[in-house]
Amino acid sequence: MITRFAPSPTGRLHLGHALSAVTAHDRARAAAGAFRLRIEDIDPARCRPEFARAIFDDLAWLGIGWDGPAVVQSMRLGAYAAALDRMIAAGLAYPCFCSRADIAREVAGSLSAPHGADGPLYPGTCRALPRRAAIARAATDPHSWRLDVAAAIRLTGPLAWHDERAGTVAADPVALGDIIVKGRDRPASYHLAVVVDDAEAGITLVVRGMDLFASTHVQRILQAVLGLPTPTYHHHRLIAGADGRRLAKRDAAAGIDRLRAAGVEGPALAESLRHGALPIGFGWATA
Ligand code: GLU
Repeated sequence: MITRFAPSPTGRLHLGHALSAVTAHDRARAAAGAFRLRIEDIDPARCRPEFARAIFDDLAWLGIGWDGPAVVQSMRLGAYAAALDRMIAAGLAYPCFCSRADIAREVAGSLSAPHGADGPLYPGTCRALPRRAAIARAATDPHSWRLDVAAAIRLTGPLAWHDERAGTVAADPVALGDIIVKGRDRPASYHLAVVVDDAEAGITLVVRGMDLFASTHVQRILQAVLGLPTPTYHHHRLIAGADGRRLAKRDAAAGIDRLRAAGVEGPALAESLRHGALPIGFGWATA
């Protein structure tokens, strides 16, 4: 049993992160396995070193210890580039020259734009470009790289994964569409980095919030395309604030820093989360 906690240092951790960390930590300890920490810091516009430092500090405050050195994604860019190269060589990734405005215009002008769980999907404009010429153009023009999800599924056939709470889930290729595997100004997308890193670390159980459930569809496809193993998943319930809405990093009241400042004790908080008990003012999100 190898589990992990993989926060992005884009803000202070909140109560939901504490639940992920405690759950992943306890599952590893109960099975005499390993619990790893990974700092997902490859979004240069949003990540800040002080938030990364606060993650270490907040985990120590909760009484959660991890095994081995923390993996820092910004140190692993070569592994993501190699994975992308393999996808390009296999004809499963294509350069996309569309700006956000291009995509919005295309979606607005099309009656048949594909829709996923969170709204319109990338309409596939650049998928239709002759591949060789597009790859040559990528040497000079700003571009991202996208997964050709239809080509991927043709290659892999139908895929599924197991979630401890949801059971066996069929991977839905159109859940997120032709996702970006490398953004214009980013060394790799969240999805690509996660599957490469989970495989490298030998993660057998991914514990994270239900907000990332839909991500698993595309991560499962990326695993298949890259020949990587598929862990078991545990997407836990989400915590809501006083307004009933699920917590986000912007909800200052749910921040671990606020709870600390209010005199909450870390190990006591971790213990109540283990028993499904939440501090006053918080509840379980229903959706
Ligand atoms: N870094 C992601 C986040 O903080 C979580 C990644 C994962 O658990 O797969 O939302």
